[in-house]
Amino acid sequence: METKRFKCSFCSGTGTDQFRLLSEESVCQVCLGKRELEFAQPMIKCAFCKGSGVYPGKRVTCTVCSGKGVVSEKPNMTVKCLHCRGTGAVPDSGLPCLKCKGRGCVSK
Ligand SMILES: [Zn+2]
Ligand SMILES: [Zn+2]
Ligand SMILES: [Zn+2]
Repeated sequence: METKRFKCSFCSGTGTDQFRLLSEESVCQVCLGKRELEFAQPMIKCAFCKGSGVYPGKRVTCTVCSGKGVVSEKPNMTVKCLHCRGTGAVPDSGLPCLKCKGRGCVSK
């Protein structure tokens, strides 16, 4: 399978936990300090966290992409989710959209 390496979204490539949840020198839980992540292709930016890897409004990893900032693209998942208007989040509640599971797009 084709893979691509990217700078870790959650720690911005620093290798440390930006929120220091465990200690002052917390290792990033997403890349485990490697500063890079490897993704199987194809993949798309996570709509719910807008690619940041951070759960919107919280200091934890995004539950949709597990903090990676991207999700693997499924074939035919190219249509914008009308339920959340492509944001991946339910308006008002701020929770991941159930229709698209936070991806912001659904299958045709
Ligand atoms: Zn990281
Ligand atoms: Zn995400
Ligand atoms: Zn949706």
